[in-house]
Amino acid sequence: MSERTISSPFRDTLAEITERCRPGDEGANADYIGGLAAVDPALYATAAITPDGDLYAFGDADHEFTIQSMSKPLVYGLAIEELGLAAVLRRVGVEPSGDSFNSISLSPGGRPVNPMINAGALAVHGLLHDRILDCSAADPDELVLDGLSRLAGRRLTVDEELFADEAATGYRNLAIANLLRSAGTIEGNPRHVYEGYCRQCSIRVTVRDLAMIGATLAAGGIHPATGERVLRAETVQWVLSVMSTCGMYDSAGSWMNTVGIPAKSGVSGGILGVIPGQLAIVAFSPRLDEVGTSVRGARFFRTASAELGLHMMRITGRPTGALRNRAVVDFDDDGVRDTTLLRLYGDIDFTSYESIDREVIYDAERHRSLFLDLVEVRSIGAVAAAHIHRLLDRISGEVRVFVHDPAELLEHDRHPQVTWVDAATVREYRSTRSS
Ligand code: GLU
Repeated sequence: MSERTISSPFRDTLAEITERCRPGDEGANADYIGGLAAVDPALYATAAITPDGDLYAFGDADHEFTIQSMSKPLVYGLAIEELGLAAVLRRVGVEPSGDSFNSISLSPGGRPVNPMINAGALAVHGLLHDRILDCSAADPDELVLDGLSRLAGRRLTVDEELFADEAATGYRNLAIANLLRSAGTIEGNPRHVYEGYCRQCSIRVTVRDLAMIGATLAAGGIHPATGERVLRAETVQWVLSVMSTCGMYDSAGSWMNTVGIPAKSGVSGGILGVIPGQLAIVAFSPRLDEVGTSVRGARFFRTASAELGLHMMRITGRPTGALRNRAVVDFDDDGVRDTTLLRLYGDIDFTSYESIDREVIYDAERHRSLFLDLVEVRSIGAVAAAHIHRLLDRISGEVRVFVHDPAELLEHDRHPQVTWVDAATVREYRSTRSS
């Protein structure tokens, strides 16, 4: 079957925002780890995926960079799975510190204030280390690499050169590991814990990997492609909670106010964002601002959040999904099942629109006519409506399009090529089908 390529408005919007956020060369690469200073500062990539959806990736989407601090919430999740929540909470808190990532934030008893600062992440890594060495011959570093690989859905690797760079010069992190050992927060050899933590930070990912990891979190711990349950839903709840309160270091408060997406940044220039149940969104660009967040990445997040209505605290009458059902039918009664019927429902916003976009483009490329039934739709948000209009513009010249929109949620006059069907036509179709 010949396939034409019709571009998807969902994809185009993300691509357009990505490009709009590209200009500018403010900020600088992290330079306290040799390998990071050497990365091309012009690199830039973004990605997004809904938990049941397709992956959309832009720019240098195949470029591998080190995961750095974006590993922290993930290893925290692995530690909760291995040791249980109570054991982890006994050693590491969940209070935002307002301190910078490498601050020596320990409460008087030696308990790091949260798992997102280096002290907390070293403690979490140390707990996993102690536990694994205690109860099996398994290699704790392998457990971390394996866990992150399962979250990503492919075998990840370690950047050995960058690992060696950091492990040779991270005196401050080594000092923190020693402090944690002297306070009894960790029990194993602090140098091994420190090196294991550096390896954890040196795992290589692309924005596609981070988006898959984010989608696994957004789906409550089940990987959307492999179907594997990697983390329990309760664990994911703790992971996303610390991301939202402590994920952006000393700018966690302003990030939540301006962007409103739980996220974790890393000094390599990546930002992993997760909207629970809805969307994973990722950016990568090495130049950092003064708190250690990618300048371009943050610009992309701010813009996408504002323009696509992604702020978690924005009350929109949250949709539970757009697509009630899909069937291939003989709508015009010519004996051929060549029309895709999509019945939508509820409140449709930008992220729930993605499933419509995907289905419509897929079928239009296969020359199927479309029948869009909006009878059960209560509202269509402004951004989603604009996208549906663009979608109709694009496909109505390519395939026959029927739309049943009794509440006139869409502007019918804008689409002369669309057949706006009324209730009687739908009834007639239903009766011929059931007879
Ligand atoms: N490996 C880095 C460090 O510990 C991670 C810091 C970060 O990404 O924020 O210094």
